[in-house]
Amino acid sequence: LTGGLEAAWNKLKGEEVLTKENIVEPMRDIRRALLEADVSLPVVRRFVQAVSEQAVGVGLIRGVKPDQQLVKIVHDELVKLMGGEVSELVFAKSGPTVILLAGLQGVGKTTVCAKLALYLKKQGKSCMLVAGDVYRPAAIDQLVILGEQVKVPVYAAGTDIKPAEIAKQGLEEAKKKNIDVVIVDTAGRLQIDKGMMDELKDVKRALNPTEVLLVVDAMTGQEAAALVTTFNVEIGITGAILTKLDGDSRGGAALSVKEVSGKPIKLVGRGERMEDLEPFYPDRMAGRILGMGDVLSFVEKAQEIMRQEDAEDLQKKIMSAKFDFNDFLKQTRAVAKMGSMTRVIGMIPGMSKVTPAQVREAEKNLKIMEAMIEAMTPEERENPELLAESPVRRKRIAQESGKTEQQVSQLVAQLFQMRVRMKNLMGAMEGGSMPALNN
Ligand code: GDP
Ligand code: MG
Repeated sequence: LTGGLEAAWNKLKGEEVLTKENIVEPMRDIRRALLEADVSLPVVRRFVQAVSEQAVGVGLIRGVKPDQQLVKIVHDELVKLMGGEVSELVFAKSGPTVILLAGLQGVGKTTVCAKLALYLKKQGKSCMLVAGDVYRPAAIDQLVILGEQVKVPVYAAGTDIKPAEIAKQGLEEAKKKNIDVVIVDTAGRLQIDKGMMDELKDVKRALNPTEVLLVVDAMTGQEAAALVTTFNVEIGITGAILTKLDGDSRGGAALSVKEVSGKPIKLVGRGERMEDLEPFYPDRMAGRILGMGDVLSFVEKAQEIMRQEDAEDLQKKIMSAKFDFNDFLKQTRAVAKMGSMTRVIGMIPGMSKVTPAQVREAEKNLKIMEAMIEAMTPEERENPELLAESPVRRKRIAQESGKTEQQVSQLVAQLFQMRVRMKNLMGAMEGGSMPALNN
């Protein structure tokens, strides 16, 4: 998918604005890329139309190229398509929360039972698994072993019992033990059949579950959306879990499920380890699909900067290397306020992403830096050269701010480095090349 979209952006290189004409070809590429990713045709049509409408006549953001703007629009539209927000699991107001898992054979239901228990345990909830796949002794054994692995009790009562009956017994047991969440495994079939649906209906009736989640294999592509729809119509579900996203699935499943079925993807499995289950974040998924996380934060950051009244002033200063301590402080504070130090630093070519510990470190450094800049005279703030030339001034600032002379020297050096870096970044923007892509 990323490759196909890349072609779309490339066609806009050198354009000044997005127009009805110049988006025709890129939109064709986007359409093709989505279809190749196994997104269903009606969804692709609606998507392309929504993006086209927004792209034409979108206001120009200074410093942001049309191709970057189109990336942003496509990204936001992808997020919307996938439901926008994270869809959280719902918990019962009183008594145990019951989560019923359904799905075809081999999609990962039994694995998800244990993964989900581990995931909820980490949130401080006690869990119990119920072995509702009563057809094969091996299925029960599998759940018992996985339960042991994540240290969660498993309720099993052999194979001579109806799934609805064992589900009821399991729930009773959980109530007695004051368990927070009961997760019920069920039997799948190779294909949808009436037997499976009737059985699920019985289990659902017996349990009155809080969540009924359909487990779907991401490899099934656009078929996934149809499956979710069918299960929803037949038994009524509350959401889906998409598994095997670590494989080479083409992403189409994630894109179409919400739009086609109306039901959200709540969780995704991306590996065979018990830890490999996480919430489904539409924005991260969109970023991954586009493979362009850095461009997105770059555009957002640019919008932010340009919204500031003195944007023009700032740019002029950067280009003429007049960037001073006042600008330095303003910039650094703006960045800190956005709380996205990580992204912004990661966005500057040649610098890699930083860890949370490094972010905290950076915030601490900001405080130190503020103290030193506050100890400068207005003249010194506007003319960093004064400080570069005079050890006496640096010593005074060190004393007034309670920092060391070395720290002051470092700050001065940092400003000059920043001038160079910002000039390079602006140069890259002017030249039309995109900042470091993360593919
Ligand atoms: P069930 O028939 O629906 O209960 O499916 P299982 O839970 O038995 O899983 C079938 C196979 O898929 C097992 O080999 C699992 O290890 C594997 N599996 C499940 N989830 C994932 C996943 O997210 N990624 C990968 N790579 N394999 C998975
Ligand atoms: Mg199973």
